[in-house]
Amino acid sequence: MGKQYRATSANVNEFWQLFVNRRAYVVQSKRPHPDSGRYYYFRPKGGKHGEPISLSAQTVQRHLEGDLTIGLYSMNPATQRCKWIAMDGDSKDSLKHLCELQWELQQQRVEAALEQSRRGAHLWIFGEQPLPARDCRSLISGLAQKLSIPVKGAGTAEGIEIFPKHDQLKDGEFGNAVRGPLGIHRAISARFWFYGADYNLDNQLAFLRRVGKLSEEQLVALLQKLGQTSAPETKDAKSVAHWRYPVSQKQFHILDHIQVRRKTGRNWITRCPSCAAAGRDKSGDNLAISTDEPQKYICWAGCSKEMIRAALGCPIPEKDERVHAVG
Ligand SMILES: [Zn+2]
Repeated sequence: MGKQYRATSANVNEFWQLFVNRRAYVVQSKRPHPDSGRYYYFRPKGGKHGEPISLSAQTVQRHLEGDLTIGLYSMNPATQRCKWIAMDGDSKDSLKHLCELQWELQQQRVEAALEQSRRGAHLWIFGEQPLPARDCRSLISGLAQKLSIPVKGAGTAEGIEIFPKHDQLKDGEFGNAVRGPLGIHRAISARFWFYGADYNLDNQLAFLRRVGKLSEEQLVALLQKLGQTSAPETKDAKSVAHWRYPVSQKQFHILDHIQVRRKTGRNWITRCPSCAAAGRDKSGDNLAISTDEPQKYICWAGCSKEMIRAALGCPIPEKDERVHAVG
């Protein structure tokens, strides 16, 4: 039950690449609520003014080592995209329904990983690049309908839940968080693993690395097959579709992560993702990216490179020593 695991910086990086859409996150309470007995999640706050804390590599390490348990938001409001789709089932038929979905997905050449959970299971699909939340939702609800699997919220109180739960997030919205995989569930102090690999961090993450990733082209084709249309791309915007695994070995290209709005002189102009995360830059023109040298970009409101990268869910990797410096 309480077995301790050591998480390496490689484990942390891999987990981050797979699961972290943005740096806002929640932590599961270590004690049950006195009235309900439930272990709720809360957004950690810190500092003098109680500002929300951003997810760090150290916190992911503590999650993997079982010291705390984080929940991760399913989409990034700066892009309206998600790295993963998670299907959660906690009723008595859930495991059967999730296995039926997994089988159907397999017929469509989409791989999905099944994770144990306290009352049922979670089924995960990973994107080859961040995928539009709306399309992800359409795919799963379309398949569920085809298989007559009830989806919670779609006219029924029972059924599987689909994360992301929103097609779009407005400024200041967070959407819904899911318990971060490979951590410990506080209510029973136990870890839930993915089926298909040994129960240790290295093998579980190696297994997840090998699970086939869903491409945007494939997603669009599947939606067409189901008679659904995909989200319209903004005409004057560059597509976000170029991020590929493994992101850490490659140079960061900001144009792979954002949609530019217009060109002024020798700059692309768009909303600064870091300002956007704070509900600012409503006019959408704080960020300038050099058209000649896109690795040069600046927020006129003063957001640092670190802040912009973090807001895009691709933080500048922290040095290994810092990851290991956790007591
Ligand atoms: Zn900014």
